[in-house]
Amino acid sequence: MELPVIGLGLASASSSGTAPAIDAAPRDQPVPNTPAVEAVAAEKTYSNGTRALLPVDLRVQQGEFVTLLGPSGCGKSTLLKMAAGLLSPSAGQMRLWGRPVDGVRGRAQALSFVFQEATLMPWARVMANVRLPLDLAGVPRAAAELRVRAALQRVGLDKFENALPRELSGGMQMRVSIARALVTEPALLLMDEPFGALDEITRWRLDSDLLGLWQAQGLTVLFVTHSIHEAVFLSQRVVVMAARPGRIVEELRIDEPHPRSPGFRVSTAFSGFARQLQDSLLRASDADNHSAPA
Ligand code: ADP
Ligand code: MG
Repeated sequence: MELPVIGLGLASASSSGTAPAIDAAPRDQPVPNTPAVEAVAAEKTYSNGTRALLPVDLRVQQGEFVTLLGPSGCGKSTLLKMAAGLLSPSAGQMRLWGRPVDGVRGRAQALSFVFQEATLMPWARVMANVRLPLDLAGVPRAAAELRVRAALQRVGLDKFENALPRELSGGMQMRVSIARALVTEPALLLMDEPFGALDEITRWRLDSDLLGLWQAQGLTVLFVTHSIHEAVFLSQRVVVMAARPGRIVEELRIDEPHPRSPGFRVSTAFSGFARQLQDSLLRASDADNHSAPA
């Protein structure tokens, strides 16, 4: 059975207590030296005729942290959903670990999708919310609970398994959502503006914790934001997109070692990267303004 791909919630504690693998759905092993995500001239026109994405080429290597940055409507979510197999490209191909997305066995466990909203079941406790993907995969209760506790520990919520979502702050709800995404031990996290609704300080903390998890777990992360600063702080590489029609315009490597400290946010290097991305976005929107109206 394929699982619906659902959202995830984080701490930088390294993984402790290796939980048993999910046996309900065998996974394809990643093909070594192939990109985790690859778009080959992948484009999308919706059935109402909206040209959401011109053909794009993108490669995200295994273990990489890549961010898609661009204004609203430039096709970021469309591209991410195609990578998850939630949408099919109109032409071209999306590949995961060297295989067409639809052909990846155990895809629902191998990748997790995190949305901007925590999308928790309001009536269910944290334990049940995080256990959901394992329940859907038919993992026995006792084994599932072990895995949930390990995931909650990773996001710094080990004391909250009996809490209801409404008893938690927005940042904590997002951590629950990330724990739910981690509980299947995915190799790939697709994150669509996951911290966009949070206050700045909470967002900074979650950004740092996410980097800790990414490093500790050896994840591949494809992250979406329209915040230049978040893109610079997190990424090894930022892919800049533009709208009308959606397309990739440039990319920038953020050549700064991880882990990244809060001091990086106020460094000269940081401002330099932010400036380059700002210029890139402005160039793209100028080009829009000088082209004929759609
Ligand atoms: P972003 O995430 O960068 O804001 P989206 O990928 O959501 O951009 O949308 C890209 C374009 O496709 C926008 O013009 C949007 O209105 C349009 N779009 C998104 N989803 C649909 C849909 N299901 N049907 C028709 N048009 C859509
Ligand atoms: Mg979007």
